Amino acid sequence: MASILIQNGTVVTAERTVAAHILVEGDKIRDIAPSLPVQNADRVIDAAGLLLLPGGIDVHTHLDMPFGGTTSSDDFETGTRAAAFGGTTTIIDFAIQAKGTRMRDALDTWWKKADGRASIDYGLHMIVTDLGEAGLDDMDSMVADGVASFKLFMAYPGVLMVDDATIFQALSRTAKNGALICMHAENGGVIDVIVRRALAEGKTAPINHALTRPVTAESEAVHRAIALAEMAGAPVYIVHLSSEDALNQVREARDRGLPAFAETCPQYLLLSMEELARPGFEGAKYVFTPPLREKHHPPKLWDGLKNDQLQVVSTDHCPFCFEDQKSLGKDDFTKIPNGGPGIENRLQLLFHHGVNLGRLSLNRFVELVATTPAKLFGMYPRKGTLAPGSDADIVIWDPGANHIISAKTHHMRVDYSMFEGFEVQGNARLVMSRGEVVVEEGRFLGKAGRGVYLKRAARGGAWN
Ligand SMILES: [Zn+2]
Repeated sequence: MASILIQNGTVVTAERTVAAHILVEGDKIRDIAPSLPVQNADRVIDAAGLLLLPGGIDVHTHLDMPFGGTTSSDDFETGTRAAAFGGTTTIIDFAIQAKGTRMRDALDTWWKKADGRASIDYGLHMIVTDLGEAGLDDMDSMVADGVASFKLFMAYPGVLMVDDATIFQALSRTAKNGALICMHAENGGVIDVIVRRALAEGKTAPINHALTRPVTAESEAVHRAIALAEMAGAPVYIVHLSSEDALNQVREARDRGLPAFAETCPQYLLLSMEELARPGFEGAKYVFTPPLREKHHPPKLWDGLKNDQLQVVSTDHCPFCFEDQKSLGKDDFTKIPNGGPGIENRLQLLFHHGVNLGRLSLNRFVELVATTPAKLFGMYPRKGTLAPGSDADIVIWDPGANHIISAKTHHMRVDYSMFEGFEVQGNARLVMSRGEVVVEEGRFLGKAGRGVYLKRAARGGAWN
């Protein structure tokens, strides 16, 4: 069994920061100790002055996803490779049940998309669009296959949206089978009316995407999602929370002791709706849902991360090229494919704007990008921490490395960056996935297809 000894680094987990050596044997961490003998190690890496972090876990990605007549531009090969460059070694992507089909069909489809392409490990959530006759039983069989979480939409009527009865039934089933329901919380019915009004008034530019999706449509849906979960006796996880108003709903629920959880994404922490008003059609680069908000929201979201009202930072990576995909909505903002790229930059942005700027401790940073995602989604302690017996998913992080984010140098298959020109300090120098070095000094050493499907356990951290 190949072994790697990482010497002289600073091991950072959600709980502690400690100078230690790490011994990797095969695909697992064998030992972590103040000092370990060099003999017998096939390779010795000196990590003096560097941080050793658990591999990042991005629980919200959309690779190779059909949307509005096109497909997200990163597939499992290019997307997972870009993730690895940024220090992410595990993703959870979304399989989508097409209406009138079984969840099993969607799972098979997404396994095929990932097979032979993923270079890091991946799990799958199931997007439920139709419970039909067998849907509730199908949820149980998904859990048996390691799909321990489901996503339901309160937005996109006629496409993905389900009604409250469906949401309540699904939540009630998870109270028995231990899966976690993830909610896209926006009041889709109301938004649709506002959108139709805007179009009737000839408002077609990208900025209207933000103007037609009010903050209250999000906070109302978050409130309703939590209320439905409370009635069903199940936890709930709000995806891509974007506003102070929605955050207040989560805080109130948690203050009452309810198992309500939420994630946000770098774009909501660092950008505002002014981006959508850029000249010409450039605002389309920032069209995704929920939309970017006014400038007073991001500071509240940072507070939420610090105070554990938000538990996870994911990306909602869903790239569409500006030239030939976003342009589908040149004359009508509702036809702009919804989504933006981010899978590669999550750790860089959160480290720089969180840790370097004093908003987050190093341990909280690790908790947000790796440990809590692993716990909530049934992968802990195999993933999400550095401990003997855990998978050797290790990021050797250089806290002093300067990097300028740009579409010219990123590895995502998309022709723009939402964070073009952002200067960050702190970047991955070496990335290991199950004991194999997949990125080193800016070179990709992994292989398409080496990533494995993760069977995730039900009754994860949301149930404690
Ligand atoms: Zn999404």
